[in-house]
Amino acid sequence: MLVKTIERVIAPGGTHFVGDGFRVHNIIPGSQGLSMQRMSPFIMLDYNSPYHFPASDTPRGVGVHPHRGFETVTIAYKGKVEHHDSSGGGGVIDEGDVQWMTAASGVLHKEFHEKEWSKKGGLFQMVQLWVNLPAKDKMSRPKYQALSNKDIGRYYLENNTGEVEVIAGVYEGIKGAASTFTPVHLLNVKLKQGGQAAFSFPANYNTAALVLEGKIRINDTHQVPTNHFALFTNEGEQFTIKTDEDAVVLVLSGEPIQEPIAAHGPFVMNTQQELLQAFNDYNAGKFGYLED
Ligand code: MN
Repeated sequence: MLVKTIERVIAPGGTHFVGDGFRVHNIIPGSQGLSMQRMSPFIMLDYNSPYHFPASDTPRGVGVHPHRGFETVTIAYKGKVEHHDSSGGGGVIDEGDVQWMTAASGVLHKEFHEKEWSKKGGLFQMVQLWVNLPAKDKMSRPKYQALSNKDIGRYYLENNTGEVEVIAGVYEGIKGAASTFTPVHLLNVKLKQGGQAAFSFPANYNTAALVLEGKIRINDTHQVPTNHFALFTNEGEQFTIKTDEDAVVLVLSGEPIQEPIAAHGPFVMNTQQELLQAFNDYNAGKFGYLED
């Protein structure tokens, strides 16, 4: 086994608002030349670094919009999000929870700060990741996996130096809470001062680490500051993360989906024809109905 080295460390860059409720750094594909194919199956990553929203009686967020062809994964670190969709589903993503929504053939949904949380306001920190679907599954039925923090399996690191929450995939024999269509590992790594964890993924998997809290060292060679994104090469398998302070790191690794990508806005398909079909189906009301 060889060491998986860092290709580059990407600074978070500027922010923009998604609706009025998410102030995000777009990291994938982003302004740093990280293409959808480069991090496939992770085709989009918006990171709402800690941001204070003042109290508001009207919850902030994003109104009704469609998705087709992929999955949206929302990880709440601070704050709460409430969602509703055209299939009648809905719920609250609380701190520590993950919502894994398979949009697949198409849903309408809306994402807002949870009502009571919004009334008080507070610090908000969230990740939204889009995981692509292979062509054969793009038109499968939509579904939701609401993963509450207590149901996410965790591996406790030696000497009480932290834990690894296994959102998807596997870590040290602990299986992920989410089911996925292609091989994906999504790990929320919480280290205490002096903590360390080792990782091993196939060389060809696209792999990265987003630092949400603290600063870390990868392979003892690279310092990665808070809010930065470390992109690994596609050579070697193993790496380590160490820290001298409390740190939280989202580690993502997945087998690339070797298919063409045709993407526009909320639709991610394989061909222009399929994209056009998505717009036509949306305009024809085939994604269902959801009240504003
Ligand atoms: Mn959405």
